[in-house]
Amino acid sequence: MQKEQFSNLSERIRGSLITPASGEYEVARRVYNEMIDRRPAAIVRCADVADVKAALNFARQNDYTVAIRGGGHNGAGLGVCDQGLVIDLSLMKGIRVDPAIRTVRVEPGCTQGDVDHASHAFGLAVPAGIVSTTGIAGLTLGGGTGYLTRKYGLTIDNLIEADVVLADGSFAIGNASQNEDLFWALRGGGGNFGVVTSFVFRAHPVSTVYAGPIFWEVKDARRVMQWYREFLPQAPLELCPFLALKSVPSTNPFPKELWGKKICALISCYSGPLERAEEAIKPIRQELPRPILDWMGPMPFPALQGLFDPLLPKGLQWYWKGDFVRELSDKAIDSHLEWSAKAPSELSLMHLYPIDGAVHGVGRSETAWGFRDATWSMVIAGIDADPAKAGALTAWAKGYWEAVHPYTLGGAYVNFLMDEGVDRIKATYRNNYNRLTETKRKYDPHNFFRINQNIKPD
Ligand SMILES: Cc1cc2nc3c(=O)[nH]c(=O)nc-3n(C[C@H](O)[C@H](O)[C@H](O)COP(=O)(O)OP(=O)(O)OC[C@H]3O[C@@H](n4cnc5c(N)ncnc54)[C@H](O)[C@@H]3O)c2cc1C
Repeated sequence: MQKEQFSNLSERIRGSLITPASGEYEVARRVYNEMIDRRPAAIVRCADVADVKAALNFARQNDYTVAIRGGGHNGAGLGVCDQGLVIDLSLMKGIRVDPAIRTVRVEPGCTQGDVDHASHAFGLAVPAGIVSTTGIAGLTLGGGTGYLTRKYGLTIDNLIEADVVLADGSFAIGNASQNEDLFWALRGGGGNFGVVTSFVFRAHPVSTVYAGPIFWEVKDARRVMQWYREFLPQAPLELCPFLALKSVPSTNPFPKELWGKKICALISCYSGPLERAEEAIKPIRQELPRPILDWMGPMPFPALQGLFDPLLPKGLQWYWKGDFVRELSDKAIDSHLEWSAKAPSELSLMHLYPIDGAVHGVGRSETAWGFRDATWSMVIAGIDADPAKAGALTAWAKGYWEAVHPYTLGGAYVNFLMDEGVDRIKATYRNNYNRLTETKRKYDPHNFFRINQNIKPD
């Protein structure tokens, strides 16, 4: 097949087209995870929905594979592909907050930080993730967990509407009364169904929160984990403490004597009335061994969301694996302690993010998200700046995951999957998988959108 020149596409768009001949190409093709090294035929930086349509039509007519990029944070590097066309949405950053009805309309190039910044000016927040540089688009389409999850649900539980450009270049709106099947699938089914060009979210009155990390020495980790599993189900839903096994970063502002020390941490956010915060976290401060660092205090919500940004810049090596977890048995804790002690780098970590509370209030088949009965979404991440460590980071994450996997529900938050094969994708969606396949067949019968955790139409 004779392919059209990219210059033809360039003439049809308001954004920019980057090819291997462009000076920007080497930077533009990189995604957040530096382990990913792919060379697309071109990258289209779309300025608007018309550009998205033009790019999709060009790709389809000229038989290019497309990768969709929001924030570029996907661990498996799904925001870029070899030889195909990257539809890069990072210029599409419009946000409109409607404070009267507490909604936020967001374009797909926004990061989590963009959404927090815009909403905070109105004393509002949209429940999403915990690192401000993450793209809101990819995060939302996978589900979205963070500090407000226990109280207000997953990000998809707060999604009211999405505008979508479909595989054939047509446009559809998905919400509770239009294209309900598409709207259902978008809430957890990832980038399988089209390019989302606008999201409308429900926002909540969250402004100053009482939040931050508390660290314990690793000798106290077992006690903290045992206590945490009992505490969480009774904790007020405004309090969201996630558990971490990691090391103290060897950098300011951490006290020098703690640098590099292995720790167990609870990183928490209390989003209820400030005057009740200290009471809510009293058990953490009173019932556990003395921590080596306690930095919980009042802060603006966007400040909490940006807390990890300096530690996790773009360009690090990442390999992660996830699972959903219902219970944390003593045997599971033993495995966690054994494997976290062997972490191959200071940044490597294990996190357990609570997904109880409001997440359990939504039925298992109401959205595509398959694990409404889990207590935590677990991630084990091997992370370091040194490319020479890529093998060790990967081997550790895989080994750790294999050791704890028998104590989990299986599946995994789709946004914590690497390239792990169709069985893992099926396990992630459980009984919702067949309905996702049917929806894929209707909206993308030729599997045009396949650079994702792919749901095949057949
Ligand atoms: C440091 C870090 C912290 C994280 N923290 C959290 C967290 O707290 N909570 C959480 O839930 N997740 C978290 N994640 C995981 C995150 O949700 C995923 O990495 C997600 O894929 C990032 O979205 P993105 O838009 O940046 O990704 P991209 O790499 O740009 O896109 C990933 C994929 O999403 C799909 N996609 C993106 N945009 C669109 C669109 N507009 N239309 C259709 N499909 C699209 C495509 O399939 C694309 O290939 C974190 C990731 C990192 C690296």
